[in-house]
Amino acid sequence: MTGKSETTFEIAVLPGDGIGHEVMPICTRLITKAAEAAEVTLAFEEIEAGAALYQRTGDAFPDEARARCRAADAILLGAMGLPSVRYPDGTEIGPQLDLRDDLALTCGVRPVRTIPGGPAVLRDPRNDKIDFVLIRESTEGFFAARKTGRIENDQTAYDTGVVTRATSEKLFEFAFALARKRRNEGFPGRVTCVDKANVFSSMAFFRKIFHEVAERHPDIEAEAAYVDATALNLVKRPWDFDVLVTENLFGDILSDLGAALIGGLGFAPSADIGERHAVFQPCHGSAPDIVGHGVANPTAMILSGAMMLDWLGHRHGLPRLEAVAQAISDSVDAVYGDQRVTPADLGGSDGTQAIGNAIEQELGKRV
Ligand code: NAD
Repeated sequence: MTGKSETTFEIAVLPGDGIGHEVMPICTRLITKAAEAAEVTLAFEEIEAGAALYQRTGDAFPDEARARCRAADAILLGAMGLPSVRYPDGTEIGPQLDLRDDLALTCGVRPVRTIPGGPAVLRDPRNDKIDFVLIRESTEGFFAARKTGRIENDQTAYDTGVVTRATSEKLFEFAFALARKRRNEGFPGRVTCVDKANVFSSMAFFRKIFHEVAERHPDIEAEAAYVDATALNLVKRPWDFDVLVTENLFGDILSDLGAALIGGLGFAPSADIGERHAVFQPCHGSAPDIVGHGVANPTAMILSGAMMLDWLGHRHGLPRLEAVAQAISDSVDAVYGDQRVTPADLGGSDGTQAIGNAIEQELGKRV
């Protein structure tokens, strides 16, 4: 797959803070190579945002940076935030959360898939069959309280969650469409709504809308489960899940549990998808404990880049771009599958560059 570029996409690149700067260059190098093979040019525009910028200027995400993100065809983000850098109320800066609100990125897509032959966390041999997608509502839920919470007289604190019909319907429609796409690829075609409908009115409302939307998709199995039981079952029998859809905070927590099942945060990619915009970023944060040591695993960032190519390819009718996105994912599988690298985050000796180079070499054989 070689040839002259016919299509160019403008990509806003926000390395952010900490290891975001270490994993991002590897990702952009690999996706450039893959896109070129699909006759697509990626024009990267690096944008500064995050805790370090806040420390220097008092503004973590200037309006001009937001406008450049809005104008891009897609956004790649490393990680943002540093535990030592906080707003006066004690909360952390979070441009990655601002972007979700600014661009109405309702659907947080978190694939949880064991790399065949790769890191095995559960001893059960069915560990190799873990392959589900967690969809986290990303603009409301309990996170809607961000920036509006209040503390009265240093005695009582209030954070108010929000669930709207409009956003929930979009979220559930997305989940059923994804389950249908996966069913065509051999998965069961089942959506599990994860909530706490037994306690919160907002969650009972969330579940009610789920069942209403499910009625429009009689070909897809629909079930609802409580978040506490789901946490248990995600450890006991994660291979049984197909598509899970949940509220923002529950999704935040369960997606880290999902990442742990497949080897850790270094292996967990994600996408935040709206109707017009999308941000692609690893699930991990800025990892200040390992920054500068060259041991950050770039796999999650690389797979997030592959998700971006897949999304662009699907959206713009470029199946060849979807094919090279798959080639990146296959290259990751091949490198870990035959233990060509032993990543430092799993107790091995290979760091950021060695892992990136091995995946790039494998990709070179496939595109
Ligand atoms: P973290 O994800 O940065 O790190 C958690 C643990 O996982 C650490 O031990 C870290 O070394 C390890 N880890 C993470 N990514 C890794 C990788 N690629 N390779 C190897 N090991 C990896 O979470 P944290 O320590 O809770 O948060 C650090 C900062 O990041 C905080 O300021 C937090 O707010 C921010 N954060 C940002 C995002 C985001 O940008 N989307 C997500 C989570 C946390």
